[in-house]
Amino acid sequence: MDDSRPIETPVTRLADFGHRAGRVALTFDDGPQPPWTGEVLDILEDTGCPATFFVLGSQIRGNERTLRRMTDLGCAVEVHAWDHIRMTEQDPEQRRRDIDRTRALIREVTGHEPTAVRPPDGRVSVAVLDAIRAAGLIPAFWSVHARDWTRPGVEAIESGVSSALADGAVVLLHDGGGDRSQTVAALPRVIKAIRDLGLRAVSLTPVTASQTVSPAVSPGVSPTVSPASAATDE
Ligand SMILES: [Zn+2]
Repeated sequence: MDDSRPIETPVTRLADFGHRAGRVALTFDDGPQPPWTGEVLDILEDTGCPATFFVLGSQIRGNERTLRRMTDLGCAVEVHAWDHIRMTEQDPEQRRRDIDRTRALIREVTGHEPTAVRPPDGRVSVAVLDAIRAAGLIPAFWSVHARDWTRPGVEAIESGVSSALADGAVVLLHDGGGDRSQTVAALPRVIKAIRDLGLRAVSLTPVTASQTVSPAVSPGVSPTVSPASAATDE
């Protein structure tokens, strides 16, 4: 079998990261990119809502304060890629180098060790998934999106996410990669929809890999991923 051939994008739900029921995760890809990332953070701060940012390593320099603000607000900063090249189109050495330099820069700037990677465009192969796990990181995808990157309109983003929201959902949004004003405008309504359903937004960080997650998580919870490698990787 050729394990470099693309496979269907896996679905990630919060249970995969060891979170108990009643939670959802908002995730943002392709930043940091001014002014959108700052505007997203303003809303998260105003609403007391944490999120997870899958960042591009090449965009971190010059935006260090923005990354530190993410972690100050209880958000997780994770690896998207160095410069958004699909990992299925990289050779193993390029893939390893880009994951390593992105995670190292996140660690240097925020002081937090990333635990997860979301490959660009969700394009993966068995070889890509193996490379991520070999780096001690967890592949992370999503369960809900509303194609916000195509700028379908604020209403379409809000209703597309809200109609698909469910316990354990991982919502894909974007704070970079172009004009994200529609995503920013939809975000307060998305957060309201989460709360109207009685759900609570949490960062995607595996519960065993962070001290910042809710202490209400039951100690008996058994993640289906392997958080031990993420928790001990230094
Ligand atoms: Zn992306």
